[in-house]
Amino acid sequence: MSIGLDAVYEELKRLQLEGKDRVFIEDRTMALLQPAPEPRTPKAPPVTIDLQSAVNSDNTTTQLAPKTAPRKKAPAVTATLPDTPTIELPSGDASTQMQWLKERVESCPTCKEQLREGEKVVFGTGAINADIFYCGEAPGEEEAEIGAPFQGKAGDLLTKILGAMGLSRESVYMTNIMKWRPKHNKPYGNRPPTQEEMEFCLPYLKAQIEIVQPKVIIGLGNTTVPGLLGVDPNRKMASIRGSWQTFEGIPLIFTFQPSYLLFNDTMKTKRTAWEDMLKAMEKVGLPISEKQQGYFLPK
Ligand code: URA
Repeated sequence: MSIGLDAVYEELKRLQLEGKDRVFIEDRTMALLQPAPEPRTPKAPPVTIDLQSAVNSDNTTTQLAPKTAPRKKAPAVTATLPDTPTIELPSGDASTQMQWLKERVESCPTCKEQLREGEKVVFGTGAINADIFYCGEAPGEEEAEIGAPFQGKAGDLLTKILGAMGLSRESVYMTNIMKWRPKHNKPYGNRPPTQEEMEFCLPYLKAQIEIVQPKVIIGLGNTTVPGLLGVDPNRKMASIRGSWQTFEGIPLIFTFQPSYLLFNDTMKTKRTAWEDMLKAMEKVGLPISEKQQGYFLPK
């Protein structure tokens, strides 16, 4: 097996052990998993991967081929987007401005066009005068269904982290760079947003920040790095996580997104993410107890 294929195989086995029975697999990864090239045909059927059979049987990777094989070229899922919207906030207090912006975003034709049936535009929630502004990448399936950021197990973990900081979801502001769930052609799972998609949504995010005027922005997830700071191959989460940056003149720190922490729940990763939260708490002047200082340290 190639090194890349080995890594995919090991990751699938790990996910299976964690109880996952479905995964989102990028087209290029699917291509890697194919035992042999297949002839191209114009229209692709839906791809379904049965992880159980994929990693359980005779230890080879050929079972990983989709049930609908032979595989065909998938249709494009990212639409060409129009120019980025221009936002000029109306005069009035923060609450009036936020309500105006919410209506503006929720009625944005481009955002609405990207929705699948039953999905909602996800604007943002929380205190409009919050000191801490959490910014994720994009809504996922649960967020788009409910219409609010950070739902499901990952959302619960974020709520828990906030609790450990002495905060609640209502005392911070939470949103994503993207206001819709990025479309893809798989029956389940979420796709990270493209740079173009994030750039389209950026004026909405900037307007939210202008209203809230937080003391700190916390970028959650790898894609928030190019999304907020622009593309730079030398600037990745691994190199700048936990170090102070700025966005719109406001201190910005990047850390892991909660779903990453769910699947990488070692003490080391938890401590790393927690130290980022401690830095944010310190920056906004929140008291930090000795107990809080010591979370996730070896006993
Ligand atoms: N949920 C969100 O709302 N955003 C993310 O980036 C991840 C999960």
